[in-house]
Amino acid sequence: MEFKFEEFDIASSLKKAVKEMGFEAPSPIQEKVIPVILEKHDVIGQAQTGTGKTAAFGLPLINDVNSKQKHVQALVLTPTRELAIQVSGEFQKLSKFNKVQTLPVYGGQSIGHQIKSLKRGVQIVVGTPGRILDHVNRGTLKLDQISTLVLDEADEMLDMGFIDDIEKILKNASTERQTLLFSATMPPAIRKLSNKYMNSPKHVTIDKGEMTAPSIEQVYYKVLDKNKLESLCRIIDSETLDLGIIFCRTKKGVSELTESLQARGYAADGLHGDLTQSQRDGVMKKFRKSTIEFLIATDVAARGIDVNNVTHVINYDIPQDPESYVHRIGRTGRAGRDGIAITLVTPREMKHLRSIEREIKSKIPVRGIPSIEEVVE
Ligand code: ADP
Ligand code: MG
Repeated sequence: MEFKFEEFDIASSLKKAVKEMGFEAPSPIQEKVIPVILEKHDVIGQAQTGTGKTAAFGLPLINDVNSKQKHVQALVLTPTRELAIQVSGEFQKLSKFNKVQTLPVYGGQSIGHQIKSLKRGVQIVVGTPGRILDHVNRGTLKLDQISTLVLDEADEMLDMGFIDDIEKILKNASTERQTLLFSATMPPAIRKLSNKYMNSPKHVTIDKGEMTAPSIEQVYYKVLDKNKLESLCRIIDSETLDLGIIFCRTKKGVSELTESLQARGYAADGLHGDLTQSQRDGVMKKFRKSTIEFLIATDVAARGIDVNNVTHVINYDIPQDPESYVHRIGRTGRAGRDGIAITLVTPREMKHLRSIEREIKSKIPVRGIPSIEEVVE
């Protein structure tokens, strides 16, 4: 029989909330990890993006905080502002039928406003390492009484160079705490971090077979540099597409491709590190509302983005390292929906494709570029 949320030893207010959110059954990572977290073990959870890791740590975390006490009892660290907002949004939905308060705390937002909210008292804080450390140094956030600390998307946080901030935060936090670490991949730096700061962690891994449960079809096209743009247009014209994220290697690449696609009449907009927070929010809002069909982004800009009806991830520039490939394709096939990941490969990039295939332990099939006739019908 299928495992149900009912069977978890958590408050009925939480079971009611997941039902209202439309979750019918726990995802594999949730099923495996929730009981272990409730037993208060340190946990390293590894599962691909889009497999429900937020609720996997969110449910036991919210279950065990005391809403009658106003001090911070749990801290969640995330790599980006967008993710901090997403995670705290999901926590707030999970807390719909109880009184647990979650506050997102991230750079780019007025610190004074955050200090006021912290003073009013919250049980859970979700934030980016830099801004959290800022509050710790100012004494506006005290971590000596937290019972749980979560490192969400740990691999991405390390990639983004947050290691020093994270270590400082870990050293400041109560030694009595439970530490939970979630990641899609497990590079050596993560093992090092967990050896140093975690207490006999239990490893919970969802293997690749279970991980790709939402089916993501993967294909590649052979293209030449000189007609890459033309090839991309043929491909997207031939696809039945809802929302697509197109990845470029550089910010400049993002700007150029965005302009080229807009000039050809595609509803596209770009997301990269040089935009202000409100510009980024504006682009994301248009994408979520399907006002634009294509989001052009660099790896950094697309970290942690969770938009449910992304049907296509297109690697306009193939990622140089296999781990970014895994992250990129995780932007589709979310919440059990099907998705397709398309990669454009020039002859000199074939070596990158091969190393990706080694990482995912499967061969990616090649497709021929559609002819004009196929596109025009
Ligand atoms: P991850 O952190 O593993 O990338 P998320 O926690 O962001 O994944 O979850 C991806 C999406 O799946 C979210 O929209 C979330 O609300 C949804 N989701 C999570 N758990 C379930 C579930 N048990 N059933 C249905 N949808 C779920
Ligand atoms: Mg996540």
